[in-house]
Amino acid sequence: MAGPKVLVVDDDADVSLLCALHLRQEGFDVLTAADGREAIEVCRAQRPDAVVLDFMLPDLDGIGVLAALRDDPATAEIPVVMLTARTEKHDQQAAWEAGVVDYLTKPFEAGRLVAAVRAALHPDGDPELAARRREALERLRAGDVAALERQAAIVEHADDAIVSTTPDGVIATWNRAAARLYGFDREEALGQSISVLAPPDQPDPLLEALQRAGRGEPVAHLEVTRQRKDGIVVDVSVSLASMHDASGVVTGVVTVHRDVSDRRRADDRFRALVETAPDAIVIVDELGRIELVNAQTERLFGYERSELIGQTVEVLVPARYRTMHPVHRTGYLAHPKVRGMGAGLDLHGLRKDGTEFPVEISLSPLQTDAGMTVSAAIRDVTERKQADDARAHALRREQEASERLRQVDRLRSDFLSTVSHELRTPLTTITGFADMLVGDWAGFPDAQRQDLVQRISRSGARLNALIGDLLDFTRLEGGQLRFVVEEVEVVEAVADAVQRCGPILEDRRVHLEVPEDLRVLADPTALGRILDNLIGNAAKFSGPGATVTVRAERAHGGTETLITVADEGIGIPADELANVFDRFYRVGGQSNRRPGTGIGLAIVKEFTEDLGGRVGVSSTEGEGTEFTVAFPAPGPAT
Ligand code: ADP
Repeated sequence: MAGPKVLVVDDDADVSLLCALHLRQEGFDVLTAADGREAIEVCRAQRPDAVVLDFMLPDLDGIGVLAALRDDPATAEIPVVMLTARTEKHDQQAAWEAGVVDYLTKPFEAGRLVAAVRAALHPDGDPELAARRREALERLRAGDVAALERQAAIVEHADDAIVSTTPDGVIATWNRAAARLYGFDREEALGQSISVLAPPDQPDPLLEALQRAGRGEPVAHLEVTRQRKDGIVVDVSVSLASMHDASGVVTGVVTVHRDVSDRRRADDRFRALVETAPDAIVIVDELGRIELVNAQTERLFGYERSELIGQTVEVLVPARYRTMHPVHRTGYLAHPKVRGMGAGLDLHGLRKDGTEFPVEISLSPLQTDAGMTVSAAIRDVTERKQADDARAHALRREQEASERLRQVDRLRSDFLSTVSHELRTPLTTITGFADMLVGDWAGFPDAQRQDLVQRISRSGARLNALIGDLLDFTRLEGGQLRFVVEEVEVVEAVADAVQRCGPILEDRRVHLEVPEDLRVLADPTALGRILDNLIGNAAKFSGPGATVTVRAERAHGGTETLITVADEGIGIPADELANVFDRFYRVGGQSNRRPGTGIGLAIVKEFTEDLGGRVGVSSTEGEGTEFTVAFPAPGPAT
């Protein structure tokens, strides 16, 4: 005779066989099923006396199978022993509540299985099993209650406001932090719509989010403005989670509220600070994309904010730096710290209109929730640069001026010794030769007498020129020059000068290219002194037998007359050309062995300019020099 019929349901063939063998040994008639659906079918068709049911099946779980069996009156009474590898309390509880008669965990003892199945066949007739079942349920429920109480205590004492609502937003639970945050106590809050916290007269985004969550739609966290019972408005970050029953129906929504007013205020302050900063502030993300710019950035670079956000920061960088800039950017992110950018380099910003301006940039890393960002404070240093340049320029000019003063000082002290030397030398010659001739006139042959007298004459001319320079110079220094301008015949003035310079010119050939009818407006004496100096220099700084050329011509449509004195002498180094008109300046300084004091050309320049003219010089070393003076020409005779 066949024993009681037992269905073993397990998707693992080995476990299934193991159970079947144990039970068959004990005389049971064993059926098997490998998944939930098959189990239900077999139960309906074969009405086993008991079922050993695995919790984890490939299709339905054990609870689902139990529920299906309970739903069908034909199978509702079949006792089920749950056999499972799951030991979680809530699984056990779900199984007990679903009506299992016993609950065994894998691995199991054969004896326990057989005993459990036997007991299951007579659930009410086995007081021991009934007691175990009751006890287990009570234990689990007690544990559950304790756990729930713990959870409730955690919720109650949480720092965050935790409010649960029905799917349509009616407040169901309200913890202390909620009372603290919103000023409503629990009794006042329970049963109210969550919108009681919304500022009046506007749609409530939280209620809308709650309703969406209530419909089972996923809702991320949101930030909303709430009004407390006392009317004070607070900024709150709310996260939502919907609660479901076993069949997946939403039974409510838990919301966690955190007051972010302080953070908002800090954010607002940060934004205001950035906005009003005197520097352009550009915040970029790790990829160099612009996240935030302030008003000064718009002013400085000429962009609207909306044109910059999301662009890479290179739009603000001149094209020639653009390739390397991302490399520097990545380098900075590898070692982020507060520092100036491109120390020692001239940095430039690029405006929307393509123009550039000099900038100074300091960088600071800014760690945010969204990752590392870099804040760049950019300062337009155009004005400072200009001021710096102007200062540097002024400083240079000052240094040059004081260097010139020092040089003039040096030259002036040289001048005194030069003058005494320049006076004494010809005087020595004059008195020396004169005394010699006076003492023994007849003792000298004619030719020698001739030579000595010429030397005396040359020294006299030299002395005369020198005294002329000194007197002119003294008048210049004392500001006592009184010129009387008149029309002067150039050809006459030149001839007179050549004649005065005769002894100095010695054997130099003089070549004149001076038209007869050329006149200038000048003071005749001053013009004479100018020509004496230029012709004297041409003679002095060229060798014996050289040619000195004096040219005169009309220029600038006849409004000017140019007089040029050209020589074939030693020339002047290009870098000293600009100095030769300075007082006391002599090319080569003390090593200049030719007679002179360094004031001749200064007199030429100052006289010419006082007469409304200009001076010019061009020279090639070793080839010769040309000095030109330009004077106003008289108007055509009327
Ligand atoms: P100096 O009394 O030395 O001639 P100047 O003022 O007349 O003083 O000239 C200044 C310096 O300019 C001279 O010492 C000389 O070095 C240079 N110089 C002037 N004229 C000539 C020239 N024709 N050729 C070469 N060097 C010249």
